[in-house]
Amino acid sequence: MKPVIALVGRPNVGKSTLFNRLTGTRDAIVADYAGLTRDRHYGDGKVSGHEFIVIDTGGFEPDSDAGIFQEMAKQTRQAVAESDAVIFVVDVRAGLSAQDHDIARYLRTVGKRVLLAANKAEGMKDAPQLAEFHELGIGEPIAISSAHGQGVRSLVELALQDFTPPEDEDDEDPDGERENRPTRLAVAGRPNVGKSTLINAWLGEERLVAFDLPGTTRDAIHVPFERGGKRYELIDTAGLRRKGRVFEAIEKFSVVKTLQAIADANVVLLLIDAVEGVSDQDAHIAGYAVEAGRAIVVAINKWDAIDSYQRERLERSIESRLAFLKFAPVLHISAKRRQGLGPLWKAIDDAWSSATRKMTTPVLTRLIIEAVQFQQPQRAGAFRPKLRYAHQGGQNPPVVVIHGNALEHVTDSYKRYLEGRIREHFKLTGTPLRIEMRSSD
Ligand code: GDP
Ligand code: GDP
Repeated sequence: MKPVIALVGRPNVGKSTLFNRLTGTRDAIVADYAGLTRDRHYGDGKVSGHEFIVIDTGGFEPDSDAGIFQEMAKQTRQAVAESDAVIFVVDVRAGLSAQDHDIARYLRTVGKRVLLAANKAEGMKDAPQLAEFHELGIGEPIAISSAHGQGVRSLVELALQDFTPPEDEDDEDPDGERENRPTRLAVAGRPNVGKSTLINAWLGEERLVAFDLPGTTRDAIHVPFERGGKRYELIDTAGLRRKGRVFEAIEKFSVVKTLQAIADANVVLLLIDAVEGVSDQDAHIAGYAVEAGRAIVVAINKWDAIDSYQRERLERSIESRLAFLKFAPVLHISAKRRQGLGPLWKAIDDAWSSATRKMTTPVLTRLIIEAVQFQQPQRAGAFRPKLRYAHQGGQNPPVVVIHGNALEHVTDSYKRYLEGRIREHFKLTGTPLRIEMRSSD
């Protein structure tokens, strides 16, 4: 499981700037999808081989009794509770404040690794301003500049020094064992959407053979099973507990657990409650799964509980609110009545096989050349991008690397055009597709 870092500090110290630096923009095409929430507070970070989840908090105002501030303080406490390490951000330029002291007092009680990041310290290393932050009793202040990226790498390395980065199993597959590995499946969705009902319905299917059901009693769920000759693994799904042979929902739902499960999965099944509609949280989870490059299948559960008018309205709201998920199939199911489960399995299998589709260089290159013949990329001033050849740069998600000249001038809409051609040719459904441009000049 990826370790979790929480960013804590009063407003304006530079938490979001640090968050953006740690998470970066992952994919131009994804970033371009309308409807994908950009202000989300959870992100994937990768620094010198360490992969982690980072949580940005809305600021901390412990002594104010205004509602919004209390809410922020609550959010902060939650984030800290869910994290493995905390980065406490202060502003060297503004100096110590009473709020900093309040936050420090709280952080000293949490029993986690807490690092003190003295931000906005560009051009003032070893400055006397740093010294006063010792007063906080959090340890040595570490000078960083989020805006310029200085000191950020070593800060993260310190925060995660107890976690060894895992072998990058997805990039290397020396024994060609990928095909033999089970498909790791995460069932994500809000509390009460029907996750445990669905999983129990699956496990009750005759066609599904679960291994190791009695075994582990910990909260973590990890069920290997086989269905139709294919191997799967249900990975730890937030908010569920196993009780003997059945799963039940537990009260506590943790966003971080969900994100960790998604990070660990090959395919994410996002359940949406037909009665409640698409929530912000659904959109957040979906956005995260897209950014993580996971194969995604959407299932609207409790389809039995709404009438045809509501069904139509719901479909429209999904189209608009999850517009960035256009590539994902949307199924209608009733976990309770065990309806729609066959097509759901097919969609999961199709998504996984799309995510791992092999695309050879000759076929990709021919596709790209034909696409260009059909429609040329736009000229940008004196430049006309020249697409020469393409190769596959990865799986789950599939990455297509296009080589040529002046490719930085290829517009997003042209990339979407290419994406459409590639998707159509390889019949990709249920997986994001990344296109990278590599110019040789
Ligand atoms: P947050 O409220 O803690 O999330 O703070 P923001 O990330 O929104 O940053 C607040 C302000 O500080 C913005 O104007 C940033 O541009 C600025 N800022 C953030 N990091 C740095 C930095 O490293 N150096 C300088 N000089 N300014 C920064
Ligand atoms: P979880 O918190 O996501 O695990 O949700 P549960 O599986 O515990 O289900 C929450 C509630 O929704 C329970 O009362 C279920 O009986 C109900 N439920 C689950 N699936 C369906 C369904 O397909 N249709 C209807 N009408 N109710 C359902």
